[in-house]
This record gives sequence, C-alpha cells and structure tokens, in this order.
Amino acid sequence: MYNVTLIPGDGIGPEIAAITKKIIDATKVKINWEEVNAGIDVYEKTGELVPNNVFESIEKNKIALKGPITTPIGKGFRSINVQLRKKYDLYSNVREVKSFEGIKSRYENIDMVIFRENTEGLYIGKENKIDEETVEAIKVITKKGSTRIVKAAFEYAKKNNKKVVTVAHKANILKFADGLFLNCAREVAKDYPEIELKEVIIDNMCMQMVINPNQFEVIVTMNLYGDILSDLAAGLIGGLGMAPGANIGEDIAIFEAVHGSAPDIAGKNLANPTALLLSGISMLRYLGENKRADIILTALKETFKEGKVLTKDLGGNATTTEFGDYLVDKISALL
Ligand code: NAD
Repeated sequence: MYNVTLIPGDGIGPEIAAITKKIIDATKVKINWEEVNAGIDVYEKTGELVPNNVFESIEKNKIALKGPITTPIGKGFRSINVQLRKKYDLYSNVREVKSFEGIKSRYENIDMVIFRENTEGLYIGKENKIDEETVEAIKVITKKGSTRIVKAAFEYAKKNNKKVVTVAHKANILKFADGLFLNCAREVAKDYPEIELKEVIIDNMCMQMVINPNQFEVIVTMNLYGDILSDLAAGLIGGLGMAPGANIGEDIAIFEAVHGSAPDIAGKNLANPTALLLSGISMLRYLGENKRADIILTALKETFKEGKVLTKDLGGNATTTEFGDYLVDKISALL
C-alpha cells in the first residue's frame, strides 16, 4: 500500500484530479490517497494558501500528485509551486514531451525529456532597485546545483538507453554563471563515456527545436531557459493539456501537470485530464509500478488513435468524465 498526498488545487484542478485518481485506481494499484488542499479556495476559507496539513502530509508521504493552483496576481503572494520546490529542494523539474498518434500537432514522433534546474538561476527572487530608473535581478548558479541536475539527466539517459544529452546555455555571454553550469555538465559527462554531451546555445536551441525537434532526446538546462523551453516543447506536441511534469528532490517528489488552473473552463467538465494523468503515470514509474503505468499508457494511446472520445481542446466533444470513464473501461479490459 502506497500513501500518496493528493492536492486537487484550483479551477479545473478538482475535476482533473478526481478523474485521474479514478483512472489510476482502475489499475488496482494499492494507493491510499490522502487528500489535502491548497490554493485560492482554501485561502478564502482559512486565510492560508498552503495550510499546514499540506506540508505535514507531503513530509509524511514523501510523494504527491498535485493539480494546478491559481497564483493571485499583485497581492504580494509568492507562487505556491515555487515555495514547495524551495522548501523541499525539488531541484529536478522533469518534463516528458511525447507525441501521440491521433493527436493533431505540428510534428510527429517527438520523444524528448527536459531536465530543468528548479531551485536557483534567475528564479531565486533576488531583485534590487538600484534607483528610480534601474533594477537588477540576480542569477545564482552553483556547482552543487548544476552538477546534481546534469547528473539526473545523464542517469535518465543511461536508464532509458538514450545516446545524447544536450545542454542548453548562453555561456558565450554569461561567462561566469552559464560558464559554470556548462563546465559542470562537461565534468559530469566524463562519468558517462557511452553518452554524448552536445552543447547548444539557448537561442539556437529554440530555433533547432522548432525546425527539427526530433533531433533531441534529453535536454538539460538552467531554470529560466528550462521554463521557456518546456512550454515551447508542449506546443510541439499539441499544447499544455498534454504536458506532464515532475518536481523531484532527494527524498520527496511532487508530480503535476504543466498547465495552470484554466479559470476560463473551470467547473464546466471540459478540461483535458491527460497532462495530470501522464504525471500520474510518471508517479507510478517512480514507485516502481511500471506495469500499471504501461497499462494506462496503452489505454491512452488506443483512445487517441481511435479519436472517438476526445476532449474539446483535442477537437472532440467528450466531457472530462466521459473521457476518463472511457479510459477506466479500457483499463479494466486490459487488466
Ligand atoms: P492555464 O494553463 O491555466 O490556461 C491557458 C489556456 O490553456 C486556457 O485557455 C486554458 O483553458 C487552456 N488549458 C489549460 N489546461 C487545460 C486542460 N487541462 N484542458 C483544456 N484546456 C486547458 O494558464 P493561465 O491562464 O496563464 O493561468 C491560470 C492560473 O493558473 C494562474 O493563476 C497561474 O498562476 C496558474 N498556474 C498554475 C500552475 C501550477 O499550479 N502548476 C502553472 C501555470 C499557471
């Protein structure tokens, strides 16, 4: 029996979390879901965006599946996601970007994974006002932070038989900061002689990803570049509704969809739960439940290929629950 913290979140979060849980449970994996919530609804009731029971549950279970959370704009709130990443040192943000047959997108057969450093870079929130007309934002890169994310990327490549890890950087301009990251990548690469380290400057990387994304297998990069590349990559495979994510530290992991709370479609049973479900599949693999992860993936692939039961964002007219129930039936047949 696994104990997993489930944080439904805001907007479409509760709808996609409920159906994802139902689909995962259909594989008969023994998960005891501990449901706690964070976000704007909770804030309105309790005055706290992340109540203590959320932290307690994550610390106890060490693994969480999380829906999107609305970040109130302009009220001095720090993003909950950034808070969680920092608090638990979830240094590895992993985004798998894979095409599915039957899903309309600009490219086919994309299969890449982006490892984004999640705790430093320009996202440390150190901005200073020098005078009325000048501000500075500080980018921090450390040997420890860079080495561990590059290692995570190479370990993934080794485990999944990938031949090339691409490091995206701007060391030609940011000689110290990006230079250190690049040097750490070169050092780590020496321990993996069977895997090639390819070095690409970030602006060229963006162009290459649009021209020929199939050339990339595993990408590793700093926080801001990784954030941008990940959304670019989601666009290559049919949009945010298809992009899963994971935030992994030494002993705690939080799995979540890349997209936000989609307030425009919240409460309408229209959301596509695929991104959260794919995050759930990654969670099952993290738990070592590869067989059950494969069953859900097979059911998803079949559903997309048939193209009969799809949510609106994928060109269909199924509701969130119809799509989910269709998958549940398929999984039951595959067991
Ligand atoms: P968004 O991802 O919520 O929505 C962008 C567009 O994509 C919308 O048109 C939405 O309807 C559509 N969309 C997103 N997910 C979808 C899904 N699963 N199925 C179908 N359509 C989907 O981005 P936004 O509007 O910029 O952000 C809304 C809120 O979410 C903001 O408060 C933001 O801070 C928050 N946010 C949270 C997270 C997170 O918790 N991880 C991530 C990004 C944004």
